[in-house]
Amino acid sequence: MIARMTKLFVRTLRESPADAEFPSHKLLVRAGYIRRAAPGIYTWLPLGIAVLAKIERIVREEMDAIGGQEVRFPALLPREPYEATNRWTEYGDNLFRLKDRKGADMLLGPTHEEMFTLLVKDLCSSYKDLPLNLYQIQTKYRDEARPRAGVIRGREFVMKDAYTFDIDRAGLERAYQQMRDAYCRIFDRLGFHYVIVKADAGAMGGSASEEFQAVSPNGEDTFVYSDGGYAANVEAVVTPAPAAQAWDDAPAAHVEDTPDVPTIDSLVAMCEERFPRSDGRAWTGADTLKNVVVMIKNLDGTRTPLVIGLPGDRQVDDKRLEVAVAPGEPDAFTEDDFAAYPQLARGYIGPMKDGAQFLGEDAPAGVRYLLDPRVAPGTTWVSGANEDGHHCLDLVAGRDFTADGTIDVAEVREGDPAPDGSGPLKLARGIEIGHIFQLGYKYAEALGLKVLDPNGKLVTAIMGSYGLGVTRALAAIAEDTYDERGLCWPRQVAPYDVMVVATGKDAAVFEAAQQLCQGLDDAGVAVLYDDRKASPGVKFADAELLGMPTIVVVGRGLAQGVVEIRDRKSGTAREVPVDEALAQVLAEVER
Ligand code: ATP
Ligand code: MG
Repeated sequence: MIARMTKLFVRTLRESPADAEFPSHKLLVRAGYIRRAAPGIYTWLPLGIAVLAKIERIVREEMDAIGGQEVRFPALLPREPYEATNRWTEYGDNLFRLKDRKGADMLLGPTHEEMFTLLVKDLCSSYKDLPLNLYQIQTKYRDEARPRAGVIRGREFVMKDAYTFDIDRAGLERAYQQMRDAYCRIFDRLGFHYVIVKADAGAMGGSASEEFQAVSPNGEDTFVYSDGGYAANVEAVVTPAPAAQAWDDAPAAHVEDTPDVPTIDSLVAMCEERFPRSDGRAWTGADTLKNVVVMIKNLDGTRTPLVIGLPGDRQVDDKRLEVAVAPGEPDAFTEDDFAAYPQLARGYIGPMKDGAQFLGEDAPAGVRYLLDPRVAPGTTWVSGANEDGHHCLDLVAGRDFTADGTIDVAEVREGDPAPDGSGPLKLARGIEIGHIFQLGYKYAEALGLKVLDPNGKLVTAIMGSYGLGVTRALAAIAEDTYDERGLCWPRQVAPYDVMVVATGKDAAVFEAAQQLCQGLDDAGVAVLYDDRKASPGVKFADAELLGMPTIVVVGRGLAQGVVEIRDRKSGTAREVPVDEALAQVLAEVER
């Protein structure tokens, strides 16, 4: 059937929505693919549905090709399975919770590990039932703290989630590799730039895990890579700790009067002037030990103060901190908090006070002290002396102070060495479109998924879980391909292959356009016909905004027997004789 603009349920907008920052968000709303229903919640219009369907088809084909079998779980779920794995609590405010009429707790599924595990437990009892690869394409709910960028971070979104079940770790590794290859085929077919990076396993638990990141300057995620082939989300970068050094010859620590050095820079300048280094080199911020206080909100609602000691030239990276303290959540250390912990001398916090250990083992009640891995035993530092206007010099880690442990949350910088020695790191930004995990035994153990092995012994199944953001991928493709004129879909996901635009008032024009559309439709090409009585300017602008890969203009040229074929992406246009138009467009579409 030929789709007609006069009938299609679409209204293009001249203005971008006020809350939109991302180009993909602005354009998807302006071009009539989606409409906001509430923050982070969107209605899909026919054009949007058409793209989603194409993405889903590619995903299904590749999942089926590796033996995946499709199922569909409800989004509305009982509490118990999530209670059994503690995720009812761990998910915190991100979980949509509700009660049914009998008062029973329910939730809207944020991800379905529990349900898949229980289903397989119900239906499988032997190693002969494994390996098993199940997937669904389904709506998920997460009450995101910062829904943004339209459907890139929604509170309701479509995810493809797959789960594999194997009898042993070798099986899991095979399944993981197979899934990884299938993801590469999916994203290659979807037609955009992505990289695979090491990831933090996050709330899922488990070990090996990688993310597929759509490379985008607007992405919320930062990843690093080296020319030697290392690539990781900054959340997953593990800072190598320097080797411990002997401190036999190190001078004793001493406290100095240091008025008016409120910043790391002023502290460095003061040290340079008053305490030139014995090794002759200049002082830098990296010689100072900065101690940052944060509050950690625990699952039970209580808050615990945490002091993080790190080199003064580095900031704490909020995302790395979130990952490190999960399932707790970082929270600001407020004026009231400083009032409640008067022992922490703001601006002068350090591990020592009056010549004795202060943080770490002798910390004020309830204060935890964790150190950056660079603060290795034997390294020497300048730090606050827990007294206004005083610093401590020649502080040796391990000799003068110890901590409750390490915490690897300092920012990762361009030029830092890759942890695997493969060269200096570069930074880039991305949108996480897929995440694959070797879950291991976490869910199978918690929910008791066991099968008989060939020797008749009960063994716990081993699982993988594999997410792919379908609605997010749609936005990421838009983000990767748009230009100043509008959306610009790769052919494999475009709602229509061809948009035929008839311009002018001449009945012959509409007749010729109609005929071309009919020919395309008969040949099985999806065609959108702009049959409106609008001005050519409006119609061209809309055709470019909507983003079909091929645009055919039937208009003034028709009197000379020609129509124009435009390539949306390159912007190139060529005139062809009207009786060759069908064959030429078909050739274009098949290319
Ligand atoms: P993020 O770090 O972006 O919050 P996540 O790590 O919580 O994502 P997963 O639990 O790994 O996400 O979910 C699998 C996939 O689902 C992600 O790779 C992403 O493509 C998609 N996804 C996750 N959260 C959202 C969301 N709020 N809106 C749209 N897609 C999402
Ligand atoms: Mg993830």
